[in-house]
Amino acid sequence: MRENVYRRLLPEDFDANTPVIIDERGFSWTRPKLDTLISNIASALLNIGVQPGDRVGAKIDKSVHSFCLYLATLRVGAVWLPMNTAYTQAEVELILSDASPLVLVSSEPMEVPNVACFTMASDGSGTLMQAANNTRNVQLVYRDSDDLAAILYTSGTTGRPKGAMITHGNLEFCAETLADFWGVTRRDTLLHALPTFHAHGLFIAANTMLAARASMVFLSRFDPEQVLSLLPRATIFMGVPTLYSRLLASERLSKALCENVRVFISGSAPLSAETFEEFRARTGHSILERYGMTETTVITSNPLSGERVAGSVGYALPGVSIVALRKDGGLAPVDEVGELVVKGPNVFKGYWNLPEKTAAEFTREGYFKSGDLVRIDSHDRIWIVGRNKDLIITGGYNVYPREVEACLVSFSAVRDCAVIGVPHPDFGEGVIAVVELKEKEVFEAKSVIADLSSRLAKYKIPKKIVVVPSLPRNAMGKIQKNELKEAFSSAFS
Ligand code: ATP
Ligand code: MG
Repeated sequence: MRENVYRRLLPEDFDANTPVIIDERGFSWTRPKLDTLISNIASALLNIGVQPGDRVGAKIDKSVHSFCLYLATLRVGAVWLPMNTAYTQAEVELILSDASPLVLVSSEPMEVPNVACFTMASDGSGTLMQAANNTRNVQLVYRDSDDLAAILYTSGTTGRPKGAMITHGNLEFCAETLADFWGVTRRDTLLHALPTFHAHGLFIAANTMLAARASMVFLSRFDPEQVLSLLPRATIFMGVPTLYSRLLASERLSKALCENVRVFISGSAPLSAETFEEFRARTGHSILERYGMTETTVITSNPLSGERVAGSVGYALPGVSIVALRKDGGLAPVDEVGELVVKGPNVFKGYWNLPEKTAAEFTREGYFKSGDLVRIDSHDRIWIVGRNKDLIITGGYNVYPREVEACLVSFSAVRDCAVIGVPHPDFGEGVIAVVELKEKEVFEAKSVIADLSSRLAKYKIPKKIVVVPSLPRNAMGKIQKNELKEAFSSAFS
């Protein structure tokens, strides 16, 4: 099939005068301006020798230029391979040796064996554009909807990042479904403050706005005060839960600042009921929580109109089929915990270079195993209770960390926490809570445990509560439980 998601993202009939992107300096990038820039970048890629299917690696700061490098990669039929800008040289090399891109474009000069390395700064300057040929209008290269558009490495929360192969069909489905489900139109403006190396900022935020012909105010990074200043210009805001906590920490956040905003959307990590309620009290907005993963872009969403419930990620999106499976492979009954498995046009093609892992992560019926444990209630509403790998088994009992974490964050002194299981001589695993406190707050573990006793069964109560200055998080604000499990591995020995 003649296909390329690029055509859906920047169709020919885009209104020539409306801004697609407004950059930090207030400059408006219309469709024709973007088109020229993307064509120039695409000509550089072609001159370097990039062919359809080749991987274009990028460890690059967020900017309109780096975003156009992504679009140029799609335009020439190549495969976008973004990397977390916080990755160290060793982490980058691991990904490069796995995905073997033809070129690597980075903000800072890099030397990598067997890869043609170029630089591109946020204003477009650097060695990449020296290869460009601005008299050439680079035509769109058609692909199959099953062909790769991108390889995105997962966040590495539960282990080594895996390269998820995302197709043109996946991206098209995601952008169109979300634009439709969230009622995004050309009258919308998204305040885009997320990184663009992750599926959230790139596919869920940016692609959806493009597909809907909405505008984006593009910020190179999240700065709470800058976001608050620009909110009156936005109709949509998207963030990971920590961005919402950081907005709440500013006294400036008010109903008046959010008057123009139609919807606040959260995803990538669990949004606590406290943050949801506090945000509603301060702004009058119920944050719309949705859930997805690199391998499936988006899976569920709370409704645009209709009740958004704190702690629930809503319903499966149209066209997406999900079920909760028990350990033995049978269907989990209503309200009982099972692993969410998912099938649909949102599901990726497999893990790059890992055919066996790919095969192991799909059921016989072709459902992808998410590794997330959920409860589906009698109204088909989905509640994530945690990850398979984080499930704690202590003395033969299952403890879902999220339940204990939800109790702990309800203490006003607690900013955030992580509940983990570590080896215990008697119980197999012992429950530990690692807690980060709000500024100037104190915390008395004894009285907290006494309070928890009235809310949780004894086996769920942490045997130790440790206060740390700050929890280890990655760039998406996800708590790195692996690191904590390692740090506290001998707590009971
Ligand atoms: P890795 O797969 O490498 O261990 P990761 O799973 O954190 O890392 P991502 O693909 O970025 O990598 O994240 C997807 C995961 O994030 C989901 O499987 C789920 O556990 C979590 N997640 C995403 N959205 C939500 C949400 N709204 N509520 C709870 N968890 C969420
Ligand atoms: Mg994962």
